[in-house]
Amino acid sequence: MPIQEELAAIVGDAHVLTAADSLSRYETDWKGWWTGRALAVVRPADTAEVAAVMRLCHERGQPVVPMGGNTGLVEAAPPSQAGDEIVLSLERLNRIRSLDAVGFTMVVEAGCILQSVSDAALEADCFFPLSLGARGSCQIGGNVSTNAGGVNVLRWGMMRDLVLGLEVVLPDGRIWDGLGLLRKDNTGYDLKQLFIGAEGTLGIVTAASLKLFPRPTQLETAFLGLPSAEAALTLFGRARRDLCDLLGAYELITRGAMDLTIGTFPENRDPLSTPAECYVLLQTSVSGGLDLRPRLESFLERAMEDGLVLDGALAESEGQRAAFWRIREDLVDAQYRVAPVHLRTDVSVPQVKLADFIAAADAEMAKHFPDLRPITYGHVGDGNVHYNVLPQPHLTEPVTAHRYEECETMLFDLTARFQGSISAEHGIGRTKRHAFLDITPEIELSLMRGLKQLLDPKGLLSPGRVL
Ligand SMILES: Cc1cc2nc3c(=O)[nH]c(=O)nc-3n(C[C@H](O)[C@H](O)[C@H](O)COP(=O)(O)OP(=O)(O)OC[C@H]3O[C@@H](n4cnc5c(N)ncnc54)[C@H](O)[C@@H]3O)c2cc1C
Repeated sequence: MPIQEELAAIVGDAHVLTAADSLSRYETDWKGWWTGRALAVVRPADTAEVAAVMRLCHERGQPVVPMGGNTGLVEAAPPSQAGDEIVLSLERLNRIRSLDAVGFTMVVEAGCILQSVSDAALEADCFFPLSLGARGSCQIGGNVSTNAGGVNVLRWGMMRDLVLGLEVVLPDGRIWDGLGLLRKDNTGYDLKQLFIGAEGTLGIVTAASLKLFPRPTQLETAFLGLPSAEAALTLFGRARRDLCDLLGAYELITRGAMDLTIGTFPENRDPLSTPAECYVLLQTSVSGGLDLRPRLESFLERAMEDGLVLDGALAESEGQRAAFWRIREDLVDAQYRVAPVHLRTDVSVPQVKLADFIAAADAEMAKHFPDLRPITYGHVGDGNVHYNVLPQPHLTEPVTAHRYEECETMLFDLTARFQGSISAEHGIGRTKRHAFLDITPEIELSLMRGLKQLLDPKGLLSPGRVL
């Protein structure tokens, strides 16, 4: 019997997609840079159905790739071009199983959209801090599997810091129920950590128990113009101290990135009257009685007196706050609009070296890649910068893939010289696999291969990604 029919016996005919028009949205990645062919898309309704699908695929030697919201940026979730993989979509596992507003925990299924999880937390007077541009489409299972970061890492950490427990279906169909709510548990190895950031190569995450926090009652957002990236780093250190360690987000936007976002989207306006070399979007919040506004104002006054900040605006309404954030978040889209194909990086270096890294990369670009222009922005509070590269606007010939590869090699070599990482948050997937295999010490690779062999001895889950 064809496997599609056996899958339909598990999940129902309506949830095994095979027609070309229904497959297409699962076959191409968010960027439109990777298109594969799926043998079928299967959409189980619950953990038991996921387990039955995986058991069947294990018995039949059938490769499977899990998919969440398909917003990942390393071409990992869409199927291979050989047309031999089944896409297992988690979209129907979208229930919030429980929320405890006293213990500050929440148990959600993997297919819950991040935005709906955040909204549910707020309704219960709680706060789930993970926030990223794709929050309206990405799913909790995808966030767990990529160990997503986003704009609030410096205060609340990455997804790894927000997960208390996981429920996982293993490649052979066994269910591991590790959905604990414990904040302290030192019994043996912490197995959930294996699956966080594993990019769907070790198991299918079907549910997660998450940490919540008190809902902020005051939120202050500032958009600041600064003379340099060095000034942004100095200001960052001061902001953490002077704002009572309440800084949630601290995002850098360089001049070129600012020009791109306001040039591409006319509704995005520069909130400041004086143009600056770089900008910082800073957000701070508190859930108690501490009065944030005067603190922030006096902090900014001092920073202006010291020449660290040239100009600034504080959000006076929710609309203005959203407008500040749109400038930052529209950057991803703006790059695809201006140059549908370009080079994206997601590197991190020790925070103190970030400004030097950007300066060194800019110097290399000017010397060796005058045909390309950097678009630089990122989560400076985490030492994570998206040093992306687009063609110069005047170019008439398209930039070749080889040229982008040369530029990427230069940036990755520089990252290594600064003791950095080639992937701060997006992961390895297919796009960075070769670079990852080249730079990772053999002892680390052999440990990772050993784990993969233990959990997925037939190599059926997400083949060709990461390892
Ligand atoms: C506009 C935009 C902004 C972004 N900003 C950020 C950012 O600031 N920080 C950041 O970290 N990322 C960012 N991303 C990347 C992306 O949104 C995140 O990686 C997100 O966590 C992916 O979730 P997803 O549900 O879309 O996963 P998918 O893209 O569907 O999958 C990603 C990976 O996880 C695996 N996977 C998905 N679900 C499961 C599951 N249930 N079990 C096991 N494996 C699974 C897939 O096989 C794949 O390897 C951004 C993306 C976009 C488009």
